[in-house]
Parts: sequence; C-alpha cells; structure tokens
Amino acid sequence: MSKKSTIIILGGGAAGFFGAIACAEANRDNQVIILEKARQVLAKVRISGGGRCNVTHSCFEPALLVNNYPRGSKALRGPFSRFQPRDTVQWFESKGVPLKVEGDGRMFPTTDNSETIINCLMTEAKKAGVLLRNECGVSAIEKSADGFRLTLSNDEIVACHKLLIATGSNAKVLDMVHGLGHQIVPAVPSLFTFNIPNSPLVELSGISVPKAHVKIDGTSLEQTGPLLITHWGFSGPAVLKLSAWGARVLHDVDYKATVCVNWLPDYNQNQLREIILAFKGLNLGRQVASDVPVALPKTSGKSLWKALMCAGRSYLTSSYRSCSSACSRIVMAFKEKARIKKSL
Ligand SMILES: Cc1cc2nc3c(=O)[nH]c(=O)nc-3n(C[C@H](O)[C@H](O)[C@H](O)COP(=O)(O)OP(=O)(O)OC[C@H]3O[C@@H](n4cnc5c(N)ncnc54)[C@H](O)[C@@H]3O)c2cc1C
Repeated sequence: MSKKSTIIILGGGAAGFFGAIACAEANRDNQVIILEKARQVLAKVRISGGGRCNVTHSCFEPALLVNNYPRGSKALRGPFSRFQPRDTVQWFESKGVPLKVEGDGRMFPTTDNSETIINCLMTEAKKAGVLLRNECGVSAIEKSADGFRLTLSNDEIVACHKLLIATGSNAKVLDMVHGLGHQIVPAVPSLFTFNIPNSPLVELSGISVPKAHVKIDGTSLEQTGPLLITHWGFSGPAVLKLSAWGARVLHDVDYKATVCVNWLPDYNQNQLREIILAFKGLNLGRQVASDVPVALPKTSGKSLWKALMCAGRSYLTSSYRSCSSACSRIVMAFKEKARIKKSL
C-alpha cells in the first residue's frame, strides 16, 4: 500500500530522530525519511555528557523548567506543557531504557553510556518504518504546490509534503529557512569557557571549588556554582551557565570583559576578616602561606590559597606579624578580578 504523506526530516541528530519517530508513530501512513549530510547519524549524541548522554533534567514543573533557558522561557512554556522531561523519561522507559537522576538533577541512562540512547533511537526509527539516507546533504529548499522540493548535494531532487528541519545551528540551512520567509535571529555562541590570558591561576589547572560566585563586571550577569581552573582560564558549571546567560552581552563586547570571582561566597568581607584576624591572633609567627585559615577544598585549597596570596602581593614568605595590612588584602584576594576572552 502506498504511503499517503511524505515527511522529510532534515538532519539525523537527536532532534531529527525523535521527530522522525514521532511523525511515523503518529500515523503509520506517513512515509518518513531522514536526510543526513554526514556519514554517521547521531554523532553528537555519542559524545554528549562525556559519553554518558545527559538525556534530560529532573524538573517536572514547566513553570520552573523554563527558568533554565536564558532566551526561550516564554516560547517554551507552551511546548513544555505538552511534552516535558517527565514525558521524556516515560518515553525512554517505554522503549526499555530507564534513566537515573544524579545529585544535581541531571538524568542519564542507567548504563551510563550514550550508545544506549543511540541504539534506542536507531531501533525505534527502524521499527516505525523511518527511512534513513546518510551522506545526503540538502543544498536548496523550495516551496512547491503541495509541499517542498529539495535539492540534494548530488543534485538529486526530492519532493515531500511536509518538512521538519532539525539541522542544529547549521548556518547554511538557516539561510535556506530565511529564504522560505522565516525570520531568523542571528545565533551567537553559548556555553563556552573563559579564556583568561596571563592569569597566574592557570598554573592551578585542574583545581576546582564547589562554590564560587562569578560575575561579569559592570553587568547584572552572575552565577554561583562549581568553578574549574583550566590551563587557559575558567570553566565549570558556574562559568558555562554565565556564558549562556551572557551570550549576547559578551558577543556585543567582542568577548572582552572583566570577570570577578568570589572564591568564598558564603562569607561576607567582615566575616572573612574576623576569621583571618582570629587566626592571625593565634599564629603571629606563622608564614601566611603555611596554613589555609578559610574554608577551601581540602585537596586543592592550599594551592589556591598560595596562588591568591601570591598574585601580585608576595605574602608567601611573610609572617602575619610582619605584614600589618595582610588581613584586608587577603580578604580582597578572594574577590579576584580578571580579564576574559571567549574560548569554546
Ligand atoms: C561535547 C558536547 C557534549 C554535549 N552533551 C550534551 C548532553 O549531555 N545533553 C544534551 O542534551 N546536550 C548535549 N550537548 C548538546 C547537543 O549537541 C545537543 O543537545 C544535541 O546534539 C542537539 O541535537 P540536534 O539534533 O538538534 O542537532 P545535531 O546533533 O547538531 O544534529 C544536526 C544534524 O543535521 C545534519 N545536517 C546539517 N546540515 C545538514 C544539511 N544541509 N543536510 C542534511 N543534514 C544536515 C548534521 O550533520 C547533524 O547530524 C552536547 C554538545 C557537545 C558539543
């Protein structure tokens, strides 16, 4: 029996596969075809979540969930009221792929392996009768009387009644979509790490603190969370989130900004001063570098303490007795300021 409606899905990534399966399952009369430019489909799923695939997040209240989207909160309220993480969890469970929640709310397959998700999407697409054509890029899209006419990279022409575009941020496809009359908001990078040239802290590459407050100077952009020092600057959830919320602002200043890090956000300056004064009172003869009087992580705290004390101040070999202004300046050291540049 011939199929009634041909639906082409452009792009064989997570979105394309999920869309294709949904279209095919919704109506078995639909002929659903995925056209994928690359040789391999689902390539990003394979590397996602460090090879474990962070499938969704355990937040099942659409009104709360939208707060995690820097620029899509209004637009996503409607879609999330129809399909939200609870549905994603149920969908995978119903296909024999249980998910588990981690302490921070991220959800992964219980196998901790992104191949589980790839296998599931491939199997379900096959079961639903989805046809897959890889190495089949689309180079032009035109409207036709009853749908669309697509020109493939090998000059073949294919026609469809409906077209679902799931090519991620591919700029050429966005131009084609614009040509069809849609408005496109120019994309800017998001979720990037901060490149901080010449920061002495990069020598501490690999050290992380569980809670730092990171702020872009002169803006209201700020985040609190884990911070990782890398060999080029800063990364970790606090920085990645800040880059997402500040994506447009940082783009507009050509990624030249000053980032302020408060390494001990749970203490205000007076509390910090009191802690250090109390320590100083009992340890006048101790070198500043010898002990970590404040709550920094056990394993890495000493290196970070030394680096902060060292940065332009050379307290390392001084004793508390010999540097009278140490207290205030130590407090200031915990409010690190550094120039950033974008890095991806
Ligand atoms: C290192 C890394 C880790 C990540 N980890 C996670 C994670 O754990 N969880 C998460 O949710 N997200 C993660 N992401 C984000 C993730 O990439 C997206 O969530 C997801 O892959 C987006 O899927 P997509 O189908 O929209 O786009 P893509 O995966 O980019 O798929 C688009 C497809 O379209 C194809 N295409 C492009 N142009 C054409 C054309 N002209 N014709 C035909 N085909 C075309 C591309 O080849 C590609 O296969 C991660 C990203 C990276 C880079």
